[in-house]
Amino acid sequence: MLYRLRHDFHLSIITLLGACAMFGVTPFAVFRFYSGNIPAGVVDLVIMFSICSVVGYAWRTGDNRRSGFLLAVLACTGAVVVGTMQGDVGIFWLYPAMVTSFFLTSARVAVVVNCLALLVLVIHDVAFDSREQMMSFVTTSVVVSCCAYIFGRRNEHQRERLERLATHDPLTGAKNRRAMEEDMQAAVANHERTGAPYTLIIFDLDHFKRINDLYGHAVGDEVLTECAGLIGRYTRKTDTLYRFGGEEFVLLMPGVRAEGVQAVAENLRHKLANELGYPVGSITASFGVAPLHETDDADRWMARADDALYEAKATGRNRVVIRQAPVAARESGTGESPASAPLI
Ligand code: GH3
Ligand code: MG
Ligand code: MG
Repeated sequence: MLYRLRHDFHLSIITLLGACAMFGVTPFAVFRFYSGNIPAGVVDLVIMFSICSVVGYAWRTGDNRRSGFLLAVLACTGAVVVGTMQGDVGIFWLYPAMVTSFFLTSARVAVVVNCLALLVLVIHDVAFDSREQMMSFVTTSVVVSCCAYIFGRRNEHQRERLERLATHDPLTGAKNRRAMEEDMQAAVANHERTGAPYTLIIFDLDHFKRINDLYGHAVGDEVLTECAGLIGRYTRKTDTLYRFGGEEFVLLMPGVRAEGVQAVAENLRHKLANELGYPVGSITASFGVAPLHETDDADRWMARADDALYEAKATGRNRVVIRQAPVAARESGTGESPASAPLI
């Protein structure tokens, strides 16, 4: 639980704001029941129950996007209902609700939710004693929303930049090794849960050192960038490319079954051999391929792909080697196909 709170920023925000809302609303609920204002007390109870449900939903499903949106709508709706029932002592709840919207959902969605809440209060009109009070409330609400919007947008940009820096390789734009490890763990977990197929392809440019030696490091860098772009063009949106290190890349391909991996990997090998090269002539790569097997964890899966790549290098380079199943599974007959075989 602590691990998820530390590592999942959005879940921690949803949980913390949910807890703050509970602490803020609980004394009012108690006071309202105590002072005989049963309808207002019931509204507070409904709000508290709904907040708990949404936070629970976020923990259960991991769907932070929807949970954050629901919580923002809930906070604003609650503030509007309380404002309508309580008049000027209740409408002030809209201020914290408006600010928290910007933490819970994207800045643009928060603006829409806040405007709608304000509009409902103004159209309903029972919350205000006078026109003057209404104008003053609307103006201050808009100012609060504008400030929160500016802060929210800046925050979003900075988070996106930081996230990109932490997860991407600056030279090629491919994801980095850290991101790969996380995505592989998620793939293994999803495979265990749903049986969804995944394939891992690890490929390494052949004799890349020569390119650096002959043409210089800058040309070598250009080739690496071109290689990542080329792979991006010939793979699907759901496939992810990672720079594993140096001139070694990994492709994580969801939905590619063991039967289909040969064609996919061969196609990529051909594309690289035929199209990667400028400005230094043809450049090839060796490929190690491992479809995810039910007995795999992330380390075993990667080791199998790496092993296949080693074999592709050792048996002549510019080729694809597939390791369909772990050795134990192959020996016990549960692997899908015979042991690896070079395909060219
Ligand atoms: P093999 O076919 O066995 O893979 O041979 P190779 O020459 O590709 O392999 P080796 O591991 O001997 O050399 C990898 C080279 O990749 C060495 C290093 O200079 C180069 N390299 C690693 N990272 C970068 C980089 O970011 N930019 C450039 N230009 N070169 C890099
Ligand atoms: Mg190499
Ligand atoms: Mg290498």
